[in-house]
Amino acid sequence: MIADLHTHTTASDGILRPDELVSRAKLHGVDLLAITDHDTLAGLPLAQEVANASDITLVAGIELSCLWQGRGIHIVGLNVDVACPTLNAGVVQQGAVREKRARIIAERLEKAGITGAYEGAKAIAGEAELGRPHFAQFLLATGAVRSAEQAFKRYLGAGKLGDVKQDWPSIEQAVAWVHAAGGRAVVAHPVKYKLTRTKLRELLADFKACGGDALEVISGLQTPNITRDMGLLCRQFELLASCGSDFHSPNFGWQALGGFGKLASELTPVWHDWRIAS
Ligand code: MN
Ligand code: MN
Ligand code: MN
Repeated sequence: MIADLHTHTTASDGILRPDELVSRAKLHGVDLLAITDHDTLAGLPLAQEVANASDITLVAGIELSCLWQGRGIHIVGLNVDVACPTLNAGVVQQGAVREKRARIIAERLEKAGITGAYEGAKAIAGEAELGRPHFAQFLLATGAVRSAEQAFKRYLGAGKLGDVKQDWPSIEQAVAWVHAAGGRAVVAHPVKYKLTRTKLRELLADFKACGGDALEVISGLQTPNITRDMGLLCRQFELLASCGSDFHSPNFGWQALGGFGKLASELTPVWHDWRIAS
């Protein structure tokens, strides 16, 4: 069975519509697919329609932006009840934080001599949850940078003016929202935070202490060393194991749908007791 439990659609910063994403996942042989858009559940109903019509199991998911020790950490919620009032209140709160953050980024860009960023990014985002990738596209479109990568390096990435994160909830809060919705909470892409070993262990210990369930042992294409190492941490902290591409676009080969190998057999997959997965 191929499980891909971390993907994005046009409901956040992915470039495929939810229906297109499900079709493409099916084409790539994915059997169990979670859509985990940033801080929104909006892509799920359309995706479910397509999943029902084809032989693929859709897991309702979300990727929640959090703050831990002053750092931005992402917690994925999997197999959540999309009708849960607590989770939906959380989504509304996240939307307000995103909106405020976007205004602050635009103000700071204005001070740096780049005008109209809020309106510009908003127009690019359309119906989607407004995020930094939309600002990157705006900066690219206005010629302020030569690539989206450069936009993050100069303006939007960690430590730059677009790095506004003080209002995100704690990981404890995110875990509580996910659990209220009957889901499992997963630390997303642990390697991406570039934490020292000590800090990563501290994060996992804190996550475990607030009831967190799983670790994303595999995030897209990564070296076998990393996969082994994250598997080791997963077992040490007695967490369930998850895997996902973090798919955003067909143009990014390192995040191909379902294209990242299997979890080691000694790990317990996060889906082990889901009825939908059997
Ligand atoms: Mn993203
Ligand atoms: Mn993420
Ligand atoms: Mn993601």
